[in-house]
Order: sequence, then C-alpha cells, then structure tokens
Amino acid sequence: MPELPEVETARRGLEPVMEGATFVRVEQRRRDLRMPFPPRFAARLTGRRVTGLGRRGKFLLADLDSGAVLIVHLGMSGSLRVETDRGVRRVGLSYRAPGKRIAHDHVVFHMSSGVRVVFNDPRRFGLMDLVPRAELERSRHLRAMGIEPLGNAFDGAALARLCAGRSAPVKAVLMDQRSIAGLGNIYACEALWRARISPLRPAGRLATNTGRPTAAARRLAAAVRAVLEDAIAAGGSSLRDHIRTDGELGDFQHAFAVYDRAGEPCRHRGCRGIVRAVVQSGRTTFYCPVCQR
Ligand SMILES: [Zn+2]
Repeated sequence: MPELPEVETARRGLEPVMEGATFVRVEQRRRDLRMPFPPRFAARLTGRRVTGLGRRGKFLLADLDSGAVLIVHLGMSGSLRVETDRGVRRVGLSYRAPGKRIAHDHVVFHMSSGVRVVFNDPRRFGLMDLVPRAELERSRHLRAMGIEPLGNAFDGAALARLCAGRSAPVKAVLMDQRSIAGLGNIYACEALWRARISPLRPAGRLATNTGRPTAAARRLAAAVRAVLEDAIAAGGSSLRDHIRTDGELGDFQHAFAVYDRAGEPCRHRGCRGIVRAVVQSGRTTFYCPVCQR
C-alpha cells in the first residue's frame, strides 16, 4: 500500500509537469473507483489550470483555477506515471508490481506541459473527487483526519495530547488516521524501533499525569518525522534512478531497519535482541523485545 512518503514522492514527481499546466483532455475510462467519480468529472477538469499541487495525509490535492480542488487517493494499489512521447516515468513507489498495466489505466490526464499523467489501479481502492477549496477541510475525505506528521504542529507535546489517558497500545495511536494523518504500518514500526519504544506500551504512558510529554513522547515524535523524511529522500533518489522507458521499478531496495525482518538480529548497535513479529489490530508489528521497552 502506498504510504505517506510514496505519496509525497509522487507529488514531487508530478509538480514540475502539473503545476501551471492546464488539462487539455481527460480520459475517464470507468464510472467509479472506490466511489463514483463526481458528475461531469472530465468536463470540469478540461481547460482548467493547476495552480498548486499539495498533499494532506495520503491525499494528493491539485488546486485548480476554477476554485475547486482535485483530490486523488492511491488506495491499496494505485500508482501514477508520467508518459511523454519519449518514454515513461513512474512517480511514487508502491510495493506491488505494476502487473497488466494498460487494463488498469483508469484515468489519463493530457496536460499542456506535453505529458500524460496516467492513474493505474488494479484493485480500484483509489479515488478521485472534486471539492470546492473553501469546503476542503470539512469534506468527507479530510474532516476526520488527524495531525500532519510532517507539519510544524507535530511534536512531543502534540503526541502526548493524542496519547494521554489512552490504554490502547502506542502503535494503535500512531496508526489511527484520526490522530495522525497518513502514518501506516511500516513507518509506525520503524519509528518505534528508532525511538526504542515497545509497540505494546500503553499510549497513556507517553504523557505525564498533567498531560505533558514524557521524554519518550519527544523521542517518538522526532523519530516519526525522521523516518518519513528519510523515506521521502530515498523515494526521491529512487525516482531519479528509475526513469526507465518501460516505467517499471528497478532494483531499489527499501532500507527498513525492523519492518519485515522477523528472526533477524536487531540493528541497534550493541543490542543482542532478535526481531519479533506480533499481530496487533490485524496488522503485523515488527519490533525488538530487548531494546524497545
Ligand atoms: Zn534491539
């Protein structure tokens, strides 16, 4: 599933070819993805200029000169690629092979910058919508969304407020989209490992009795930001490395420290722990039972 760093990488890849460009033609090949496309979707985009390309959680947000915002979510298996007459470039990473690509190309944006932006989604859990800019924050997509983990407001104090009084495991709070926007399983595991905090620890223990952040809360907030920023940096480098005419991903290996490494030695220097996998809320958590307390 594309996580926040992949969506941000996609945003950065699309920015140079979409920002300032107009939609010359829009091919919409289905009536719905996870939900129906909005009425007159293609007609409402055609001729409009993109004034800015942003992101909130895992939603890409293209501001249009009509005052509407085009919302794109990649869902479980969605990806975007940029085609020109000279070749194909994939923007953003997903862990799924592209598969039978053409059959799952559901939307094609022909941009005035001379490129085609193609949305491919084999499982169709993605979505696209058009919402007036003034209603964006209270739209059904964003209204229940938690704090942006790469935003200025996210720090140890903010994390402590989210955790205070909660007996749920801290990993559950990290992955709750109403608490923190866009943090998925992989980066929750990685951040907890970096901060040396057990994913099983009750969230409330990250706040003092008066709701102030503990040292652990400060450490974890910093780790969340750091793992996301590192992944974006890696995505950016992989993007440059993988401009291939067939649009397929190359041999880039995600450098996870703990995720998907059950049975392997902990990578913290001097720790003799072995990475363990447990299931929490239906998702597999990877952690070191020795140094993560
Ligand atoms: Zn360890």
